[in-house]
Amino acid sequence: MPTTRRRGERALLDGLRRPSSGANTLRRAAARLRPARLAIAKAPAWLFPQGREPGGLAGQIGVDPAGLARSVERFNAMAVQGRDEDFHKGESLFDRYYGDPNVQPIPAWHRCTKGPFYAVRIDAGDIGTKGGLLTDVHARVLHVDGQPIAGLYAIGNSAASMMGRTYPGAGSTIGPAMTFGYLAANHIKNQSLMIQRLSSPSLLT
Ligand SMILES: Cc1cc2nc3c(=O)[nH]c(=O)nc-3n(C[C@H](O)[C@H](O)[C@H](O)COP(=O)(O)OP(=O)(O)OC[C@H]3O[C@@H](n4cnc5c(N)ncnc54)[C@H](O)[C@@H]3O)c2cc1C
Repeated sequence: MPTTRRRGERALLDGLRRPSSGANTLRRAAARLRPARLAIAKAPAWLFPQGREPGGLAGQIGVDPAGLARSVERFNAMAVQGRDEDFHKGESLFDRYYGDPNVQPIPAWHRCTKGPFYAVRIDAGDIGTKGGLLTDVHARVLHVDGQPIAGLYAIGNSAASMMGRTYPGAGSTIGPAMTFGYLAANHIKNQSLMIQRLSSPSLLT
């Protein structure tokens, strides 16, 4: 016997596959998913280190309680004054654009005052590049003299970002990577077709 969730999922998928599905059909199907979604909306394990005060949290994550309390105090003071002397958070238009306009003076920065406090480990990663190999409209790598280097293509993080030194938002790395991957593949295909044609016996005679 299928569960409510299974029935809901099936109805939603069927509805999405049928272009004629009305909004009401999809809404009804989605509503059947809700009870199951609530059931799985428990806090994930990584959220468990928590404390009413920052100091209480510190012991659980292995950092100095007095140091963490001082960091939080400094963080809050800078949030109130609206200037991040440590990391310059919120200074760029980009930071503020992604913030909450109701939070002032810096939309990207709310004070950290009300518990419970949670700890999340954050590791460094990268999103894209600022700089790299310059390419042309076919994704061919350009020599320093501006001419394309035959047979050498670059896309994605191997190429200089078409956005220059900025990252306007989600999709501005994968989007161009896929587009230029497609353009590069077409160029390679057309080049090889041209070589085949040029070297065909009918052309040589
Ligand atoms: C947290 C996060 C969120 C992101 N969100 C978005 C987003 O919402 N929208 C968006 O457009 N972009 C997003 N990006 C950026 C996007 O994921 C990358 O720009 C994109 O994946 C780059 O693709 P790529 O193929 O050039 O490089 P990669 O995806 O890094 O692929 C390179 C591959 O080469 C392999 N490799 C490395 N060295 C060697 C070697 N010597 N031999 C063999 N293999 C090797 C690596 O293991 C890897 O699999 C995000 C990135 C991160 C980290």
